Amino acid sequence: MDLERPIKQTIETVNQVLEDLQRQQQLLFTQAKLSELSSVSTNVFLEEACKRIATVMRCEQVSIWLFNESRTVLTAQMIYDDRLPAFKTGKILVQKDMHSYFEAIQQGRTLAVDDVATNPAMHELVDTYFKEESIKSILDATIILSKGIGGVLCCESEEVRAWTTFDKVIAASLADMLAYLFDRLYRLEVEEHVHALAFTDTLTGLNNQHSFTEKAELKLQSLSGKERGIFIYLILDQFTDVQAALGHEGGREVLKKTADRLRFLFPEPALTGRIGFDHFVIFYPYTGNRATREMNFDFVARVLREPMNIGGQEVYMTFSYGVSYFPDHVSNVDDGLQAAQVALEASRKKTSRKARGVYRPDMHTLMKETMLSEMNLRKGLDFNEFRLFYQPKVDCKSGEVTGFEALIRWQHPERGLIFPGDFIDLAESTGLITPIGEWVIKEAFTQLARWNEQGQGHLTVSINLSPRHFLHPKLPPYLLKCAEETVVEPQKLILEITENVALEDHDAVKIRIKQLIDMGFAISIDDFGTGYSAFLYLQHFAIQEIKIDRQFINDMEIDEKSAVIVQTIIGLAEMLGLRTVAEGVETEGQWRRLQEMGCDEIQGFYFSKAIPIDEITNMLDLPQGVSTIHLPLKM
Ligand code: C2E
Ligand code: MG
Ligand code: MG
Repeated sequence: MDLERPIKQTIETVNQVLEDLQRQQQLLFTQAKLSELSSVSTNVFLEEACKRIATVMRCEQVSIWLFNESRTVLTAQMIYDDRLPAFKTGKILVQKDMHSYFEAIQQGRTLAVDDVATNPAMHELVDTYFKEESIKSILDATIILSKGIGGVLCCESEEVRAWTTFDKVIAASLADMLAYLFDRLYRLEVEEHVHALAFTDTLTGLNNQHSFTEKAELKLQSLSGKERGIFIYLILDQFTDVQAALGHEGGREVLKKTADRLRFLFPEPALTGRIGFDHFVIFYPYTGNRATREMNFDFVARVLREPMNIGGQEVYMTFSYGVSYFPDHVSNVDDGLQAAQVALEASRKKTSRKARGVYRPDMHTLMKETMLSEMNLRKGLDFNEFRLFYQPKVDCKSGEVTGFEALIRWQHPERGLIFPGDFIDLAESTGLITPIGEWVIKEAFTQLARWNEQGQGHLTVSINLSPRHFLHPKLPPYLLKCAEETVVEPQKLILEITENVALEDHDAVKIRIKQLIDMGFAISIDDFGTGYSAFLYLQHFAIQEIKIDRQFINDMEIDEKSAVIVQTIIGLAEMLGLRTVAEGVETEGQWRRLQEMGCDEIQGFYFSKAIPIDEITNMLDLPQGVSTIHLPLKM
């Protein structure tokens, strides 16, 4: 018998298939080498791959499918019909319509069905998919991605086939190549996403500060001889009030719309960014003289001031901005932005709305001063020049001291005692507020530990946290660390935040408040009633204490409306199970009135101003203990 011929033929076929496979691998390799995979290049690749697989596997139809996250839906990335020939995408198979098929393809490396009509796993598909596509036999191979089974490669034939082991090995190997491609695409997608997050402001899609500075620096370097650049520092006037009136979402809409307008007004090659809450920056390369540019600014301001439709309501926003010129005023991006901001601040001293200012070199002294005090602030921290002063909080009924609010002071070697109103804003804007806040936390815990030792463990300390520090990721672990090191219960530290914190990022604030409360700390809302969002706090945030702003307490005796507000706040807090503290109590009359109203605690000059710890310790050291402190303490 002549066996040689068929054997020779088989070897030839195998060789041919292997050669095709090798070509296929080469194609994929070339594709994988491309640094920029895009959806277009991927589609072209999938078309080419399907075509070649159809040849290698000798099938009429080849398709590539990917699962959704829960593996309940398969979506066709590419279907190639060799009979037409034609490509299609987007077809969907849903698990609930074909349970047995979904199960079968996830059970083995390959699923070979010689005749779909006789295989029970195929029965749901026979009258639908297979009939539509005139398919009698299939060989499917799972596409295994790094996150698990990700999809399936389907080789389909219109004839009944007897799939060989060789066919199965080849199909699996082709599926592996596809897996490699999809994994790479997925990784690129993730990388792109992470990259976008690191460089864009997620709310508006504009550049964030980091990316703005980097890109503007590149633009500065590539300006040709005649070209110049303008830095614009723009803020929305009275945005906090507008946000309070429109609500959190409304405020976000205003920011987004402003960003859209800036994008429209300053297309490439200009650069736009949002670098603070309502702070926008623009870099604008130009040729020509300054006068023409200034005329255009008027146009920009007009467009920005057009009414915005926010939730069906017409909102009129105004803007203020400062401008600096490169290279006339500055030689790099950081200085450019700072000079534009200085120009803005200088013009806002004259008017708080629609202010506009162009940088002048004599403003440099102001810039220098700002930088100097920033440096000083840093030095103050390094040289331990900060002090905590303590103001007693008193039980409204009994007059006993329940705890103290720690208020920061800066003991400046030349300028004497500086109050927080003069440096907290600077600390906040330069980021130094975090180390300063950490210093306050540590001091407060140390003091609580000392009182514990002295048998005054019932006393609490309230500290003030700035919005920036409150949302800082390091705050919760730092608080825990200090509590553990000093062996003080977290309940003894009350964290005061102002209503402005909620203007930052509503969800983040909500999560942070819950997190700190779960850790055992108490949260108090300071200056309650001054922001428009006061009641938003009570509705959305799980806080324990509110401190009624001293403005209401101050006016209470002369203005009945203020008294009604105080009474309402106390009543509401009582219903919600929150403690009330009245700030700025200066007279006995105010105290008595608050007592009648049912306020829990009071604080104010009537009892004592904030005093250094030694003076407090002397008082507490009295043998009778804290409850016999004579009120008012007035110092
Ligand atoms: P605050 O937390 O509302 O503190 C109350 C302020 O009112 C204190 O001013 C206090 O001395 C003053 N005060 C208390 N009782 C009376 C009174 O009866 N009458 C009047 N007229 N004033 C009274 P201070 O110490 O100048 O602090 C001002 C603000 O600075 C604080 O307001 C707080 O928001 C902030 N601050 C203070 N210490 C810190 C701190 O360590 N970190 C942060 N981020 N902010 C702080
Ligand atoms: Mg406070
Ligand atoms: Mg206050």
